Amino acid sequence: MPFLLYSDGEGNIFEDDTLYAVGRAGWDAFPIPQNQWIELPDGGNLYELPGRRGIGVDVHTGEMRLCEKGWAVAAFIPPAHTGLFLAAYETMLDAPTLPLFCYTAVGWMNNKNYVPAVRIEKDIRQEAAGYNDKKIESGTQYLLNNYPNNRLVKHLMEKCCMTYHCPAARNFSLGRWECPIPTSPACNANCIGCISFQPEEETIVSTQDRLTFKPSAEEIVEFTVPHLLNAPFPIVSFGQGCEGEPLLMWETIQASIIEIRKHTHKGSININTNGSKPAAVDALCRAGLNSIRVSTNSAQKHIYEAYYRPNNYQFEDIVESLKVMRKHGGWSSINYFVFPGITDSEAEYEALRKLIRETALNMIQWRNFNIDPDWYMGKIGINETGEILGVQQLMDLIQEEFPDLKFGYFNPPMERIKGDYNFQFAGAAQ
Ligand code: SF4
Repeated sequence: MPFLLYSDGEGNIFEDDTLYAVGRAGWDAFPIPQNQWIELPDGGNLYELPGRRGIGVDVHTGEMRLCEKGWAVAAFIPPAHTGLFLAAYETMLDAPTLPLFCYTAVGWMNNKNYVPAVRIEKDIRQEAAGYNDKKIESGTQYLLNNYPNNRLVKHLMEKCCMTYHCPAARNFSLGRWECPIPTSPACNANCIGCISFQPEEETIVSTQDRLTFKPSAEEIVEFTVPHLLNAPFPIVSFGQGCEGEPLLMWETIQASIIEIRKHTHKGSININTNGSKPAAVDALCRAGLNSIRVSTNSAQKHIYEAYYRPNNYQFEDIVESLKVMRKHGGWSSINYFVFPGITDSEAEYEALRKLIRETALNMIQWRNFNIDPDWYMGKIGINETGEILGVQQLMDLIQEEFPDLKFGYFNPPMERIKGDYNFQFAGAAQ
């Protein structure tokens, strides 16, 4: 079993060979099944967690105890992989709230870092090895030169690509795969862990700034049509991390889709959304929207609304949006924020089965939840978590009951939606 890792608080990380690493789900620590450990994939990072002491199993006594040698350590696992357990630690009273990243358990074995995780997605679009900085810089310059008056291309290249290093914007600069289209400066939800806006009173900051202007349909169509025509496995996606809710801009999106489809029927037009406005989704489907991804932290109304804190919509509306997309024959996914201890609870399992059945869902994107676990559960009022299935077992049970339901991490291109869903992706293309 991997040994626990700890940090000296100055960025140096060591293994404690008196303790085996364990995992966390909800408020409890658990031994991790041996077959759930994988090497930390390329693109992963290690974090030291100030004000927190790691929990491990004593290699001699088998008892769980704290590591007093330093701060706890967690892993940020790269996209396409889903974490099965959180890092296990005890939090000191004056510990700072952790920033908006995922904190997966990690251990040290055979001179390598190991994490309890599973590769859930074959698609290589965000593989760390697939990004060549030189080509990204020249691609950025090419787009800025080609669209000198386009505010959205300027935002995507200068901010998203070159500042935030957003994988989707970097792929756009390389002329491939999924191209992001942020459109909305405003949102009708108030997510606790919003990555584009955090209230003044919170000690943590949003990981990127929210868009400050409303792009026009002309600006959107200008760069998306060439992308759909020329990119391999092309997708253009409304709804990005650097904006509010795209459905608040549905009229502009509707006009864009109609204009895009006058020029080409290639590729998939997708929207990543909180799903709050099913009537707007219906209008966009009639205009030619091909797929929808609705984000949610839970299939249970009370847990969803405690986190999203919606303005003038409710959980039932997001369910309706998924149904509307299926009614029009489009592709529907949920962007499912996986939180061990809540996602794999009995109640969540039953609610998820009901949601899949009711909406004829096509896909679950099993995403790592980028949030401080204590802060999250404290904010949504979950003081204790009961029996858990284990995230891997939850996945197995759902797949067994719904064999046609796809598991992944990214919005699929039309070639997978309409063609052979499991076709092999070539090695990380440049
Ligand atoms: S729906 Fe998105 S933009 Fe709106 S508050 Fe939630 S995370 Fe932020």
